[in-house]
Amino acid sequence: MAKKKKKGGGKPFDFSAARPPAATRGAKTDSRLSSAVFALSVHDTRELPPPRQPEVAFAGRSNAGKSSAINALAGRKRLAFASKTPGRTQLINFFSVGDAAYLVDLPGYGYAGVPLPIRQHWETLVGEYVGSRESLAGVIVVMDARHPLTPLDRYLLEWLSPAGRRVHVLLTKSDKLSKQAAQSTLAKTRRELASVHPGATIQLFSSPEGDGIPEATALIWRWVEADRKKTKSPG
Ligand code: GDP
Repeated sequence: MAKKKKKGGGKPFDFSAARPPAATRGAKTDSRLSSAVFALSVHDTRELPPPRQPEVAFAGRSNAGKSSAINALAGRKRLAFASKTPGRTQLINFFSVGDAAYLVDLPGYGYAGVPLPIRQHWETLVGEYVGSRESLAGVIVVMDARHPLTPLDRYLLEWLSPAGRRVHVLLTKSDKLSKQAAQSTLAKTRRELASVHPGATIQLFSSPEGDGIPEATALIWRWVEADRKKTKSPG
């Protein structure tokens, strides 16, 4: 099937209307995450499920496009939006992909004027999770391609380095940039990322256009497979 041409940026994004059925999305489709279903939410790391499957976590500044990216990767409309309801935004939400893996939606950071106790709760919850979760295969950091590597993104990345976590950056909303601007943002952010978190990988992504879905899904599965071999080894 012919690849869809990218449209210009700036049009309002209605995710539910914008996504054609998976079967018609051709090269931009990868259904390996389409069985993801909501499994549980935790408010405290003591409530985490047993670490039996590799987990791929999604982190990002609020409004960067994290929920839309999770939904696009799963080929679903509202999978991750449940976590946006008031009261659930400070929870870690788990989506199980069969019994192969969990996709994990970490609470967003960087709301203007967030009260200190909520920031402290975020730091404790996310800090403990990314610092010591044995089944965490890697972290996908979602950034708005128009404002990548904000101070809070850098703070998170610097936090992930000592924990030795795999990191992959999704530069979302790439449809809001011209093709040339998106490519130059990708190259520039890749260079900067090398000094903040050496070894991190990066790609462009657009939830409404479906750009980047196969690349991100392939990476998630590489991480899951690599860690599954580790957890399945005898002993
Ligand atoms: P989150 O707070 O990081 O989970 O962000 P959301 O996924 O809720 O997205 C925030 C806003 O950006 C919403 O209005 C989305 O419709 C929009 N958005 C998210 N991803 C994209 C994208 O790739 N392209 C465009 N054009 N808009 C997007």
